[in-house]
Amino acid sequence: MQIPSNIFREYDIRGIADTELTDEVIEGLGRAVGTVLRREKKQKISLGHDFRPSHKRLVQALLKGISSTGIDVIQLGLIPTPLLYFSVSYLNLDAGICITGSHNPPEYNGVKIHFKDRPFFGTEIQGLYQLMKAGDFEKGNGKLETAEIIKPYREYVRKIFNFKKKIKVVVDSGHGMGGIVAPDLFRDLGHEVIELYSNLDSTFPDHHPDPSEPKNLRDLQEKVLETKAQLGIAFDGDADRIGVVDEKGNIIAGDQLLLIYARAILKKKPGAVIIGDVKCSKLIYDDITKHGGKALMWKTGHSLIKAKMKETHAELAGEMSGHMFFQDRWFGFDDAIYAGCRMLEIVDDTSDSVSSFLSDLPKTFSTPEIRVDCPDDQKFDLVKRAVLEFKKKYNVIDIDGARVEFPDGWGLVRASNTQPVLVMRFEATTEKRLEEIRKIVEDQILQLSK
Ligand SMILES: [Zn+2]
Repeated sequence: MQIPSNIFREYDIRGIADTELTDEVIEGLGRAVGTVLRREKKQKISLGHDFRPSHKRLVQALLKGISSTGIDVIQLGLIPTPLLYFSVSYLNLDAGICITGSHNPPEYNGVKIHFKDRPFFGTEIQGLYQLMKAGDFEKGNGKLETAEIIKPYREYVRKIFNFKKKIKVVVDSGHGMGGIVAPDLFRDLGHEVIELYSNLDSTFPDHHPDPSEPKNLRDLQEKVLETKAQLGIAFDGDADRIGVVDEKGNIIAGDQLLLIYARAILKKKPGAVIIGDVKCSKLIYDDITKHGGKALMWKTGHSLIKAKMKETHAELAGEMSGHMFFQDRWFGFDDAIYAGCRMLEIVDDTSDSVSSFLSDLPKTFSTPEIRVDCPDDQKFDLVKRAVLEFKKKYNVIDIDGARVEFPDGWGLVRASNTQPVLVMRFEATTEKRLEEIRKIVEDQILQLSK
């Protein structure tokens, strides 16, 4: 069997459905996952999928592989990724697998694996590749059943919240998976929902379902202003990342969103541990500390963040990219639909407008995430050398790349775990210093890359 090694990525298995994710490869993947589960004395998992045209074939191939190892599978059908995670907790299963291409172009698809006791990523995903190459599989006869999870999810969430007001909210699902759950759920909770692009369409005809890109939020911004809504909420393709727009149509960046959630949690749980990724503004960490929380900076990547949350018993974590993880009154996984409910709850609890939530935060100047092409086989080495160079002159936080600290700002350069790019971001107290800090870091990288 030809197994393309590039499909085994840091956090998931992903590739072009027709050419890379062949029946043979996906069946082999099923055998490998089943084998890992069997060898850990695990028995029962759930399986869900998104709406890309290739899903039917991939589900069949994966099921065939998993069942042949003796693992029992509950089929959940069409669901957003967070509901797959939910099924594992709610149905008390050992693991869950979701076939999803997330926010990637239509020709792609992928497999996300979620173990109940730990995030499954990195070397464990490489381990599946090794098992497949060796053909080292367990044998058995797994049972198949089906279950419905959307209804239990909606009921479970409805019991958590108690809204006093009817909030006017625009929801942009970007023709992705959020659309089959979020608008109805928000209405269940008593709100007035204006929908954008709730119908599933894997060609994503209106905009790409990735709310971390400002251009993908334009329609939402306009709709919020046009309808005089109190806020707008957007989801990525499989609804594990959220984007929020205030009533003035301004985008609330991922790190600011984390802070809004953090302040709300700290009111009820003083001293709570709250984790942000290395791309978050320094203001976020300072403000969490100021509000009595234990702020912790960690590596970018949803699996890495989930692992750190478990280790530190964090109540909340969030990434610039819009992954928000609630342990407080939830299960600790990234669920943008649930995060949407929590945002509505914060709006419900105050008479202030969303745009005023962080108006007391000091003003700084920052860049968005900047992505610079860098080959996969060079990016980690380049960043490693950059860390050493910067350390000669500056204070450097080196948990994930180099976050170079200046008295009045910082600059980050890290290697993306998922793409052949370097990720950079900068922040400073003045616009002038922002440019200077950016130049210091970029010049150093340029020099090292020669
Ligand atoms: Zn996603």
